[in-house]
Amino acid sequence: MSATQRAGWSRLPLRAAAFVALTCATILGVSGWREWAAREAVLKGAETEMANVARSQIQHAEDSLDLLDSGVVGVVSRLEMDGAGSATIAKLRTLLDVREKAIPRIHSLAIIDDQGNWLTSSGTVSSTFSDDAFFRHHQLSPKREPHVGRPVKSLLDGEWVVTLSRRFNKPDGSFGGVVLATISSKYLSHFYEQFEIGRNSSVTLAHGDGLIVARAPNDEEFVGHNVADKPLFREPSLQRPSGAYHFKSPLDGAERVSVFNRSSRFPLLLLVTVDKDELLAPWRAAAISRMLYAVALVMLIAIIGAVLVRQLQRGQRMAAALVEKEAHFRLLAEGSSDMVTRIGLDERLRYVSPSSVRIVGWRPNQLIGTPALAGINPEDLPDVQAIVDAMKRGEKEEARLIYRNSHRQNGEIWLESTMQVTRKDNGRVDGVVAISRDITEHKKLETRLETLAIEDSLTGLANRRGFDERLKEEWARAYRDRSSLALLMIDVDHFKAYNDEYGHPAGDACLRLIAGIIAAEAQRAGDLAARYGGEEFAILLPNIDAAGCALIGERIRSAIHAAGLVHSTNLAAGCVTASVGGATCRPALERTAGVASLVEAADRALYAAKDAGRDRLMMSGEVVNLLPKASGQ
Ligand code: GH3
Ligand code: MG
Ligand code: MG
Repeated sequence: MSATQRAGWSRLPLRAAAFVALTCATILGVSGWREWAAREAVLKGAETEMANVARSQIQHAEDSLDLLDSGVVGVVSRLEMDGAGSATIAKLRTLLDVREKAIPRIHSLAIIDDQGNWLTSSGTVSSTFSDDAFFRHHQLSPKREPHVGRPVKSLLDGEWVVTLSRRFNKPDGSFGGVVLATISSKYLSHFYEQFEIGRNSSVTLAHGDGLIVARAPNDEEFVGHNVADKPLFREPSLQRPSGAYHFKSPLDGAERVSVFNRSSRFPLLLLVTVDKDELLAPWRAAAISRMLYAVALVMLIAIIGAVLVRQLQRGQRMAAALVEKEAHFRLLAEGSSDMVTRIGLDERLRYVSPSSVRIVGWRPNQLIGTPALAGINPEDLPDVQAIVDAMKRGEKEEARLIYRNSHRQNGEIWLESTMQVTRKDNGRVDGVVAISRDITEHKKLETRLETLAIEDSLTGLANRRGFDERLKEEWARAYRDRSSLALLMIDVDHFKAYNDEYGHPAGDACLRLIAGIIAAEAQRAGDLAARYGGEEFAILLPNIDAAGCALIGERIRSAIHAAGLVHSTNLAAGCVTASVGGATCRPALERTAGVASLVEAADRALYAAKDAGRDRLMMSGEVVNLLPKASGQ
């Protein structure tokens, strides 16, 4: 792992946490933005709807005034044609009464003369219009267009009304008077109340100069009220035919949305005002529940993210600890003079320490991945395999093995391995660690010591100890197999005299020669030639009968004789000779006798041969006959 990689790795939890935080922020941001967009859409939709209401209501006001005007126009033309004589007025009064009754939106119709007197009045109301604004307007202006005046309180019943009036001329063209029609504020308010626009909302019809004409919900105190100081009349940006604006009510502090529409033909303005809170209430309820879902989702992501980040951190700490542990392990393994190997469950090498070069002659990279037991001597392999199998099955935790293994250059070596099972966190065996040491030298020494213990150094034959051990083994084997076992004892004749005559070194040489002759006869597997002691030899011959044994004994005796080593004091032959005693037995048939009986029998036969004159073979069976003679001597 490079330094930059490690830095990136250590920053991973931080990055993961940042990613989770970003995801949460994005979800919240997108949700919030969507809700805001939905809110804007609700407001836009409401504004459109309100604009439609305002348009239809201002249209209604215009239509109402048109209706009034059509009546006024008719009266004006009658007055101008027929004059304002009392007969005409009386006729017209009836007509006006009929009209007033037939059309509910007409509050009143009146004819006023050039002095401002009410010509069509029933007489109950005696007042003059000479000071009223509409009258003065017509008096001063020759224009014949209809004039919509400011709202006024009706002289008839004190109700607020809107006036529409036209001037009529006298035949000479001078000012003849005014025809006046009024429409009741109540009528308009009542009409506006039919529209459902919600609580805390209102529809207001205002005159162009700021006086309120009608309002729904109907509230007397608003009508006639001057709102000319309000932004709608002052703010330059709002001086257009129609539009919308938002404001905070100075009365209750509530947010409001207003839509206005100005009449293009009359000095009238219609204003629909809606409570923003009320307008947004359905959206708010839905938005809150949707945002709650989003918040719940974000919290869930945050919690899962936190758990994951925590686990990531813990995993990193564990990995770091593992790396450190492995570094320690490598330090130990790689510093060790022993070869440390790790074997997987597939019995292939997973790790090999650098000492492998010294121990088996191969570099670690040449060994890793190869079968771990490949170099083991086929004779030792089954034992090693059995132990490895037991360890893999978890039946054995550790083992110490000594086996032969091939070395790349040095042929066969002896290895001593200490093996230990390795387990995963869950306790399952995942392999074996072996620490192997070359014990070839040690083994050689051991073999040498073993040999020394049972070998005679002068002749190279087995020594007495070796002989005794083998005799016991062969006896037991013959006992099991119900086979026979033969023994020849060979003793050099007058050897003391030989030593005296030719010296001890010559005696040793003589013993070596005789040993060679005896060893040459121990040819079959299981045969053993040994130096029994001093100048006395023995040869152990399994699976042979007395005749065969005698044949070999005789061959040895004659070979020693034939060697012709000069021995002047051995008067009978003149050369070195030996006496041989032989005995055979079947251990299975010997009821009480043990190993010693065979030696004793051969020994007796040997002494019998000595007694009989030396340089001869005597078998145990012949001894009996000779015994009386021997005892006789
Ligand atoms: P016999 O014919 O009755 O066997 O007479 P012998 O002289 O051979 O018998 P004895 O047991 O009296 O003498 C054995 C001699 O063998 C005595 C000893 O000097 C000699 N001898 C024993 N071991 C060795 C040896 O390792 N080297 C030599 N050179 N002589 C040995
Ligand atoms: Mg002797
Ligand atoms: Mg002797």
